Amino acid sequence: MNYISTRDSSNKVSAAEAILRGIAPDGGLYLPETLPQIDQSFLERLCSMQYTQRAKEVLRLFLTDYTDAEISACVDAAYGSGFDDNRPAPLSSLTGSNYFLELWHGPTCAFKDMALQLLPELLTTAIRKIGEQKEAVILVATSGDTGKAALEGFRDVSGTKIMVFYPEHGVSNMQKRQMYTQQGENVNVAAIEGNFDDAQTGVKAIFGDKALAKQLADCGYILSSANSINWGRLLPQIVYYISAYCDLIEGEELAMGEQVNFCVPTGNFGNILAAHYARRMGLPIKTLVCASNANNVLTDIIRTGVYDRNRPFHATISPSMDILISSNLERLLFELCGCSDSVLRDLMQQLSETGRFTLPVSAKAALQAGFWGGCCDDTATKATIGTVFEEYSYLCDPHTAVAANVAEQYKKATGDDTPMVIVSTASPYKFADSVLEALGATGLPKDDFRRAEQLEQLSGTAIPEAITALEQAERRFTQVYETAQMTDAVKRFLRI
Ligand SMILES: *Cc1c(COP(=O)(O)O)cnc(C)c1O
Repeated sequence: MNYISTRDSSNKVSAAEAILRGIAPDGGLYLPETLPQIDQSFLERLCSMQYTQRAKEVLRLFLTDYTDAEISACVDAAYGSGFDDNRPAPLSSLTGSNYFLELWHGPTCAFKDMALQLLPELLTTAIRKIGEQKEAVILVATSGDTGKAALEGFRDVSGTKIMVFYPEHGVSNMQKRQMYTQQGENVNVAAIEGNFDDAQTGVKAIFGDKALAKQLADCGYILSSANSINWGRLLPQIVYYISAYCDLIEGEELAMGEQVNFCVPTGNFGNILAAHYARRMGLPIKTLVCASNANNVLTDIIRTGVYDRNRPFHATISPSMDILISSNLERLLFELCGCSDSVLRDLMQQLSETGRFTLPVSAKAALQAGFWGGCCDDTATKATIGTVFEEYSYLCDPHTAVAANVAEQYKKATGDDTPMVIVSTASPYKFADSVLEALGATGLPKDDFRRAEQLEQLSGTAIPEAITALEQAERRFTQVYETAQMTDAVKRFLRI
């Protein structure tokens, strides 16, 4: 199967090349030229399988240049251990045909693990297949969850090194601690004086530095990215939508072929796009509900057809969704515009020049046919954490609560009573203070771990081991750099 770039569809590469390169040379994103199709007999076959087996069956439809043995080895390495539930993506049933799909049982307690446990395997396999001799150096700028999940994914993966930059004053204490205690022989972590944009700009500059690339190549290194625009991060996410459907069939919650809705808390549009691809492959999904926090550019484009990033940025209690440029939307836009790379190039140019574009009428209609958009602010998010806990005894983190809130809005607005799966993207213990406040706790202890214990007592749920283990973990990384020193930091790490 060929992969094409959204900005030049004559640019065709294999899956291995798409995953190794991450982003196309023309600046576009890779996507499969045609989507493989699944039918009821495929789903019936998957129903009796474990998650890992289901993942292998889905991956082989897309990775036609990988052998079955390669796919099998990648999947077993990714999901074989390291998840605190023997099902990596369990479905939790509430009453009233609502479900939570829990994607945070991996080593960093956020849904990024679902993709970042598998990406390093897919990437190192791609390097071997292509015959690339160099060692891959993964650079990441993170606003929180991605950095830690990438570090855990690439830790001690042979043939790779990883360096993560995080803003000194832009991530939570728990997130910092998760990163500066990171284990592994091939990892490095540094704080940057500045905010997330500064870190991100610095990393982009390193990627664009031709002289540095040459020097790295001479020393046997090739730069690569673990960013969510890499196809190798999207593909693992398609699997859990198909798997969740199979679990609903297995649990006799649904009859085969019956439709289901998913509500996804959305930032960069990666997670919900994977659901859309599952739907286009033939999974019986009716509506995808796109849930945003106060940074609601996506709600607006779905409702009005206009994308406009010229608006204030809100720092919310669901920080992983604080995004005004949703990179992965580009893949959906390409499809909505009739897979025309020239129309897409136009829209992207308008976006970079004016921060705004208006969808063609037919594209807007196609978007509204498949998606419903809604948003809620921090006050509503906290209220939802409270009501979900009271009504269902289910504890959700602020990102998941945004989705739960918007799912309710959707039902009220449309009267649609199709079963709804709410995608649960982080452990509530990663955001213990917001969750405690939402539950009405007062006099919170200062220390993060004592807060987690308070949440444990109040909710009767258990703190994930990945969080408790952090209290004793030693700090390994202490460097703080100016953005201008980032290139030097990379060189020092690689000893060149
Ligand atoms: C990254 C993240 C999201 C947003 O996912 P996208 O794929 O960027 O839309 C939502 N919730 C949590 C907890 C995240 O870490």
